[in-house]
Amino acid sequence: MSSLASVDPQIAELIKAEERRQSDTVKLIASENYVSKAVLEATGTVLTNKYSEGYAGKRYYEGQQVIDQIESLAIERAKAVFGVNHANVQPYSGSPANLAVYMAFLQPGDTVMGMGLPFGGHLTHGWSVSATGKWFNPVRYGVRKDTGRIDLDEVRQLALEHRPKLIFCGGTAIPRTIDFEGFASIAREVGAVLAADIAHIAGLVAGGAHPSPVGHADVISTTTHKTLRGPRGAMLMATSDEHATALNKAVFPGLQGGPHNHTTAAIAVALHEAAQPAFRDYAHQVVRNAKALADELSSRGFDLVSGGTDNHLILLDLTPKGIGGKPAAQALDRAGLETNYNTVPFDTRKPFDPSGIRIGTPSVTSRGMGETEMRQIGAWMDEVVTAVAKGDAEDVIRRVHHEVSELTSQFPAPGLS
Ligand SMILES: *Cc1c(COP(=O)(O)O)cnc(C)c1O
Repeated sequence: MSSLASVDPQIAELIKAEERRQSDTVKLIASENYVSKAVLEATGTVLTNKYSEGYAGKRYYEGQQVIDQIESLAIERAKAVFGVNHANVQPYSGSPANLAVYMAFLQPGDTVMGMGLPFGGHLTHGWSVSATGKWFNPVRYGVRKDTGRIDLDEVRQLALEHRPKLIFCGGTAIPRTIDFEGFASIAREVGAVLAADIAHIAGLVAGGAHPSPVGHADVISTTTHKTLRGPRGAMLMATSDEHATALNKAVFPGLQGGPHNHTTAAIAVALHEAAQPAFRDYAHQVVRNAKALADELSSRGFDLVSGGTDNHLILLDLTPKGIGGKPAAQALDRAGLETNYNTVPFDTRKPFDPSGIRIGTPSVTSRGMGETEMRQIGAWMDEVVTAVAKGDAEDVIRRVHHEVSELTSQFPAPGLS
């Protein structure tokens, strides 16, 4: 990046600092990952210079000889990786992709059913502060208090009572397998469109480590930058022609203008990587790592929502450890262990100071870490959290930070120099 360093040394220095930070920390944020050098290279290209409103073969600007090929490749690869008939690779990110689903199938004021935010749903599934909760009529399901899991009987009761036009399944803090078939049968019974939001688990679905929603959901929405390990972006997929047309119209001209072609190219690269045998190994290792970490934390007295994990994600209720999620996450960050504080189901504390933290294994798996390292990370987390709860953590944080640096230096992160 020699041009950047001479044109804007301030930003160049900050990017370098962020690169060092990403390299030196154990990143346990469940929604993040490390993209490959190839994906990074595709994002930083002249494709950012081109306007291409519309779709391949039907654009509103000339000069699409190359862009059409890139977008078509991305679409073909998405169709092959996920086994769908249609894919739209233009949504700018997961939230606008979900808004396009509303635009395609609902009128303002129509009823949408999704998982409540405090239970693990996403803002865009009809939460009150989101446009989707303000402009539509949201109905929310949660999890059972005794199991920490979704109760499909409750979902069905709510659906029969409120007759939503659209049902979302999937979320941002769900440690368990989504029963797409069960949701589909409820959606059919009430005549709703079922949208499976696989933003978090797309990489696991692509790698065969989580059941696929294909054949069950009418619409599949996903980000491309979480377990799928692509650039920041999103896709909408469908099997029926009718739904695909509605989604395409909703994305453009319904909500967006020109697609971000550099992102489209990088999505195509990520999908190419996701089609390789090594990606299946990665996806299954993500799950094995999460199970090993969950096991270690359980044995150390941590309270795991739903008792464990089936996927890449673990939600911890820190109440038994005598500390809130925020001070714990802050202390862990100072020790080089990056997490986010999170509400837990039926949380008695406030969203800005909740009871839990959310962790995940995609990033550490992308660095090549395995179950042995997960057990070590679980031990460090316990040491830091226990020390902070006792109010005397400085020495522990310093020592763990040092040990974390030794570990990260042995596992260079993809894409970083
Ligand atoms: C991350 C996420 C989104 C939103 O993605 P952004 O790219 O942050 O807008 C939507 N739905 C779910 C379930 C997510 O986890």
